[in-house]
Amino acid sequence: MKIFTIPSELKLLIDGYDKINYQLWNDEENNDVKTFRSLIRNHYLLNQNFTCFYCRQYIFSTNGLHWQVEHILPKSLFPQFLFEPKNLIVICPRCNGEKGDQNPHVKGNQGRSQKSYPSKSGRFTIIHPLFDTYEDHITRIPAQHCDYPDHYFLQARTAKGKATVRMCYLDRFTQEFAGFPDLKGKQVECLDNFLERDLNTLSKEQKKELVQKIMDSM
Ligand SMILES: [Zn+2]
Repeated sequence: MKIFTIPSELKLLIDGYDKINYQLWNDEENNDVKTFRSLIRNHYLLNQNFTCFYCRQYIFSTNGLHWQVEHILPKSLFPQFLFEPKNLIVICPRCNGEKGDQNPHVKGNQGRSQKSYPSKSGRFTIIHPLFDTYEDHITRIPAQHCDYPDHYFLQARTAKGKATVRMCYLDRFTQEFAGFPDLKGKQVECLDNFLERDLNTLSKEQKKELVQKIMDSM
């Protein structure tokens, strides 16, 4: 992924930002902010080949309705990185809505005082476009089961992959694949936990507990 370079005409905007008032991002009266957002969106859309970074959905459009600029460390919690190109990618509105203000810094709230942008994969609980390779953590499996040739689901292979799936609710593809569109995230999580366990190694009590969790989520 090629990092966005801030053009010299926007340096004033960046230098003048107080690193606190993150609401500036949505200031529709501020032409510099609007230019910045649009340049970022176009830059990363091309770099990401019109594919959402988290769910890998391909949408051939540059329209802002389909794409949102994502702050990996959320702007409300890390306003100091509002205009940090390393903290920005482009994602689909659904992933953006799911991720919301969840904090992927390994140190959680303690990480919020960090002044310079983290430079290592280990600082993030989820996949980072600059420090990780997506395919090392999540496998994209074609469903090959119906009339939709591009239908696939995402299988987490590592702790980072799992955290990304959880944070952006990427299980939604598995649900659609499985034909259970009404299942809630919590229910899928409980069922996944159940399916991942080796039932032969569990005691009767442990099995009961797992089943109870599924029942409670319904
Ligand atoms: Zn997405």
